Amino acid sequence: MKKILIMMCLSLGGAGLISVSALAQTVLRADGYLDVVAGKIIKPGVVYVEHGKIIAVNPKSIPDNAKTVDLTGQILTPGLTDVHTHLDGDISGDWTNRPVRETGVDLAFRGAKNARKTLMAGFTTVRILGSSNFVGVALNKAIEKGYVIGPRIIPAGYSLGITGGHCDTTGFIPGLLERDYRTGVADGVEEVVKAVRYQIKHGAKVIKFCATAGILSFEGPAGAQQYSQNEMNAIVTEAHRHGIKVAAHAHGADGIKAAVQAGVDSVEHASLADDEARKMAKEEGTFFVMNIYPPGQVIIEDLPLPLQAKARYVFPRREQNFTRAVKAGVKLAYGTDAGVYPHGNNANQFAIKVQLGQSPADALRSATVWATELLGVEDRGQIKPDMFADIIAVPGNPLNDIALLENVSFVMKDGEVYKLPGAGSVE
Ligand SMILES: [Zn+2]
Repeated sequence: MKKILIMMCLSLGGAGLISVSALAQTVLRADGYLDVVAGKIIKPGVVYVEHGKIIAVNPKSIPDNAKTVDLTGQILTPGLTDVHTHLDGDISGDWTNRPVRETGVDLAFRGAKNARKTLMAGFTTVRILGSSNFVGVALNKAIEKGYVIGPRIIPAGYSLGITGGHCDTTGFIPGLLERDYRTGVADGVEEVVKAVRYQIKHGAKVIKFCATAGILSFEGPAGAQQYSQNEMNAIVTEAHRHGIKVAAHAHGADGIKAAVQAGVDSVEHASLADDEARKMAKEEGTFFVMNIYPPGQVIIEDLPLPLQAKARYVFPRREQNFTRAVKAGVKLAYGTDAGVYPHGNNANQFAIKVQLGQSPADALRSATVWATELLGVEDRGQIKPDMFADIIAVPGNPLNDIALLENVSFVMKDGEVYKLPGAGSVE
């Protein structure tokens, strides 16, 4: 199927996927590559790829039949990971009414469009943290089969939350979109356990739940705790029993602490964390995934009025708390909340994080080796033998200029080339 798709794209005048070497031998010849663990550039950057895997880095010899991709002037880095996306969503137009106007099919088409954008931006692995109709699960299958182009996906099913909470659908008349454990609304220990089991049954590879209220919903203050300690404990215990990781959406300090205590793998946003919450996260080894929006990327004035106040309260505090989390040594993984944030601009949060005190090497680690540690996958995130051939390139040293990642020149996923320097965007 992959090969058929490639041929179709080429026959369309190269408007789609560029295939140099589907499933064959390729050698990438760049000026250097990023050893992300050491935090330095190694020169040169010659990477030999076979059947989707990295076989050798700067080898002494290369098989004669390998096709060369000339990446002179480029530095290779591992494909990036965004651990918090919503590929099937955005906040344009009539987005607050979509739950009663769109089916899963609509979501899937939007997801396909954004999956492609995300891959072309250099992100070869993402998590989808909650989607209706198991769209994230289906999108991942479609990408694996080669029906659509996109990153590797670790999908949640429905996000789990309390009745009337951030992960419920609120603001409509009674009787409209009343949800239950199957569609993510579950109250009490018994129901949350059932909800976790149901999401896993239908393909969830990560469980997402709402520990606190949120910004883009019409319930109370964004920081307010929603699930009780007992409910969070039950969610985490059940998911971990199945070997499934848990991501907790949490803005307020009480909810963050309860989630950390319950044993979640990551706290998403962690916007209003206090010193105690950071200390607990550090001690437990819990990741914080703090999305930081650069100016002009998320327009507060475009949100409905009640949500604007919440955003104005939370956003600046989250920036201050990101700096504190870096200083406190909390584990950080890179997640943008793309969906709320513009798809395809995933890399634009690196520069602001560096401005807020994270070193460029750590910023890159947060989107590679630290992200893969959070995901529990050891087959990607570095340029070294036996890793997936998920490799990108930028025209310079990203450790000196992190913003280079905003315009990647080359994208390879699973040994297939999707973007080449000078070939322009193929969106
Ligand atoms: Zn989110």
